[in-house]
Amino acid sequence: MSGHCRPRIAVSSCLLGNPVRYDGTDKFNDLICNHLAKQFELVAICPEVDAGLGIPRPPVRLTGNPRQPLALGVEDVHLDVTSALTRFTRSWLTQAKAISGLILKSRSPSCGLWDTPVFDPHGEIQSRGPGLFSRIVIQHHPQLPMDDEIRLADPRHCAIFIRRVQQYAAR
Ligand code: SF4
Repeated sequence: MSGHCRPRIAVSSCLLGNPVRYDGTDKFNDLICNHLAKQFELVAICPEVDAGLGIPRPPVRLTGNPRQPLALGVEDVHLDVTSALTRFTRSWLTQAKAISGLILKSRSPSCGLWDTPVFDPHGEIQSRGPGLFSRIVIQHHPQLPMDDEIRLADPRHCAIFIRRVQQYAAR
């Protein structure tokens, strides 16, 4: 299959081995880089870097109302990157029309799909849900196939995701 006809999917940049995490490390994922890369054209996205937060950067976590949490600094609670992340994500939504799927990093305050902790003001985990980037993309593109690297490690689940992406691309 030639490169141009493979379905294009966006992937959290750290999963592709790019050193974009807050501490300048990556989360290289062999399954995505060496298996799924043969079937899909992979496009890197890092909402935090693309929002201009830099590398390295202070770590953030979701805090407050679980339905509308803020992304606040872990060490500096006065650091609030919610607006920057939201602004970037809204500008990125048009690019979502050119992809057929998303693979996102689990538990991230930006990329997590369903398991990102949301903290209360005392620093206790009160719930889990999507990160800021994922939340907005899900709202605007609910049919777009999305998954994270933890669920894709299950071969049966991975096969389902591949089929969903192929079906979405063939619409
Ligand atoms: S989880 Fe998302 S925001 Fe965090 S480093 Fe990876 S791509 Fe960037």
